[in-house]
Amino acid sequence: TKFSDLKLDPKVLKAVTAAGYDTPTPIQAGAIPPALEGRDVLGIAQTGTGKTASFTLPMITLLSKGRARARMPRSLVLAPTRELAAQVAENFDIYAKGTRLTKALLIGGVSFKEQDMLIDRGVDVLIATPGRLLDHFERGKLLLTGVQIMVVDEADRMLDMGFIPDIERIFSLTPFTRQTLFFSATMAPEIKRITNTFLSAPAKVEV
Ligand code: AMP
Repeated sequence: TKFSDLKLDPKVLKAVTAAGYDTPTPIQAGAIPPALEGRDVLGIAQTGTGKTASFTLPMITLLSKGRARARMPRSLVLAPTRELAAQVAENFDIYAKGTRLTKALLIGGVSFKEQDMLIDRGVDVLIATPGRLLDHFERGKLLLTGVQIMVVDEADRMLDMGFIPDIERIFSLTPFTRQTLFFSATMAPEIKRITNTFLSAPAKVEV
């Protein structure tokens, strides 16, 4: 497979080429086609496999048509730590360059003020740690009923850190009709339970 075979938005394809990527990694080749078809994806992959692009590239392609609305993000990426969320945000900026998509990074240790401003203005993509996302929600600043695509990254680490109840809560605040892209390095019983509950006939991609 080549990136040009993957039916990505031309701007995304251009950004990927500019980043020097030649061939999709196995998780990318496996996850991008079903994600672009609107299917749920269950990706079983470690970091370093190119997992971030495997959800970010289809997400940008699918969102490229619509427009952001105030306080209603169109997509949500959850990562277990501030560092991982920040890395996803950096990658998003690279891959979404040339599109008009906007993002906000919601992580702890930063004042709410700037994050509130971005949310108020309207963002296409929220990239967040679960606790901080729920803090914003509880403050009544954010609606999750417009989320079309939800990504859970590194679910096994979320489990280790005790975030599974937060994840379940966040799932339940988003529309039932959302598309879910879910990634974990392992399939512990608790992870399996969550995927059985919240994913709908996912394409399973294991690398
Ligand atoms: P990740 O597993 O998402 O953390 O990605 C690991 C590293 O691989 C990152 O530095 C990416 O920029 C890089 N990368 C991702 N996909 C590709 C690709 N198809 N070709 C070359 N490098 C890539």
